Amino acid sequence: MLFETTIAGSLPKPSWLAQPNVLWAPWKLEGAELEMGKRDATLLAVKIQEDAGIDWLTDGEQARQHFVHGFLERVEGIDFAHKVEMGIRNDRYKAMVPQVTGPLRLKDRVHAFEARAARAHTKHKLKFTLPGPMTIIDTVADSYYGDRVKMAFAFADLLNEEARNLQADGVDMVQFDEPAFNVFLDEVNEWGVEALTRAAKGLTCATGVHICYGYGIKANNDWKESLGAEWRQYEKIFPAIDASPIQNVAIECKNSHVPLDLLALLKGKTLQAGVIDVASDAIETPEDVVKTIEAVMKFVPKDRIMATTNCGMAPMRRDISEAKLRALGAGAKLARERLG
Ligand code: ZN
Repeated sequence: MLFETTIAGSLPKPSWLAQPNVLWAPWKLEGAELEMGKRDATLLAVKIQEDAGIDWLTDGEQARQHFVHGFLERVEGIDFAHKVEMGIRNDRYKAMVPQVTGPLRLKDRVHAFEARAARAHTKHKLKFTLPGPMTIIDTVADSYYGDRVKMAFAFADLLNEEARNLQADGVDMVQFDEPAFNVFLDEVNEWGVEALTRAAKGLTCATGVHICYGYGIKANNDWKESLGAEWRQYEKIFPAIDASPIQNVAIECKNSHVPLDLLALLKGKTLQAGVIDVASDAIETPEDVVKTIEAVMKFVPKDRIMATTNCGMAPMRRDISEAKLRALGAGAKLARERLG
């Protein structure tokens, strides 16, 4: 089927589970109630996507507070009690981050609970997102390894362990989120793609990477203002990504300043084309979605195009995110009729 649909990963959480419209939102429940709340929200996320006509569902990232720290919480060798302030994404914003203080090891499974909950309640294909190694090391302070690359490869091995287990849970695609890839362009070529490849090693399910210019929050929007009219960062990193064994690349295309001709550099990949803008509350129409797909088709053969959201929807209003999902599903259907 042409133009299969998916989402970048996250959806807003219900207001009974966490404070709405913010990142790093504190939980409103605790203990066993929190666990059950996470499960219920995961089921809702699955149902909302199914009803909107999404083909490759995610768990909506309902069980994690943040896409990086949700993983780090289950890693031994990290001190969460003594966070330090660090400039992340090349100092685009400051965040209080935990410190790596010893050898890294998974304490236990990280995402088994929500992956199995989602798997048990849908027959659709299931995509599961993990942070990529470069993005992780840009979101944690190092007080042990003394070497960013060494630490990134240590995280890649942990990610690989969890990814293989997610595959065993019945996940059909593991997607690594690497927003740091458009910040540290030389390092992507030097070791970033290699670390990513290591995280995906041995997987027989589909694999993907999501690269982006970030959620629609102020720090990101201000940074985007500074990048000029045309964003050509991807030109430097697409060749290395294209040469990697990762099969899917998810990129923002709607209202993006990335010149779409750069997508032609991804010669052997399935492109998950972002056709829904998450930095704007304006609801796309199905016609808008068709237009974006048509624009992407100039540079990518249609049998290698999927349709997705530009980025995660975690900080959005629920009603808006749901309307956008419906536009995504309806737009892909219309595109099949018109362009198939
Ligand atoms: Zn993103």
